[in-house]
Amino acid sequence: MILDHLLARAASRLAAAGSPSPRLDAEVLLCHALGVDRTWLYTWGDRQAPTIERARFEALVAARAQGRPIAYLTGEREFWGLALATSPHTLIPRPDTECLVEAALARAAAPEGRLLDLGTGTGAIALAFASERPGWSVLGVDIRPEAVGLAVHNATRLGIANAAFRESDWFAALTDDECFDLIVSNPPYIAADDPHLAQGDVRFEPHSALVAAEGGLFDLRHLVREAGRHLLPGGWLMLEHGFEQAEAVRAVLEAAGYVEVASRVDLGGHARVSLG
Ligand code: GLN
Repeated sequence: MILDHLLARAASRLAAAGSPSPRLDAEVLLCHALGVDRTWLYTWGDRQAPTIERARFEALVAARAQGRPIAYLTGEREFWGLALATSPHTLIPRPDTECLVEAALARAAAPEGRLLDLGTGTGAIALAFASERPGWSVLGVDIRPEAVGLAVHNATRLGIANAAFRESDWFAALTDDECFDLIVSNPPYIAADDPHLAQGDVRFEPHSALVAAEGGLFDLRHLVREAGRHLLPGGWLMLEHGFEQAEAVRAVLEAAGYVEVASRVDLGGHARVSLG
């Protein structure tokens, strides 16, 4: 079968299975199976599909039809223009989170400084920031050893030398004298009964990276409480949260004594990050 027909067939199968982006999914999976990029596919779509790659593609399409995230099937996701390796042990980096990177960069005018990323996962936020601020020293921590290994792998692969990673349950493995100009986090913030958890990629992502007690606010509250001890004078705490949580997170920051508390809007126009 020629590649264009294979693609069209896979796209209609994925559409029937409920994928929100069936044609794109099919193209990305076929490129992955063939080891080519999409430009190649647009140029050579009239070629015959080689047997082995076709079998690999059909297996990927079947997994996608079950709902498995594209980023886990290809093992990769782009974030802030960086190709990051992904794994089912970590949340898949999302474009919404680039809002947090922008907020951090806006408060990092000095040529040098220290940034801490809590719950770093793939290392996405830490590495995006580190790539833009080579004079800064960046530390990413995660409770999962698999995440720390993956973040180190991503830093090495991308040649980013100013980011280090450590296993830690939030601040637990930091010493009292480790202080930062900026502390950022995309913590779990979804309420356990949120129907959104039964749809799409989140079904396959680690629950511990998504769901928090107290209606999703438990970890956000904990981070606000603990961060003060690790912030340098004039430092900033910046937290990603759900688009309906901005008011609650600003109230928690203000109650803890933070000043200049504000929120930032993501690409979808939702207040996604709050800082103080
Ligand atoms: N923004 C993600 C989602 O809604 C959740 C990320 C998180 O819980 N930190 O799918």
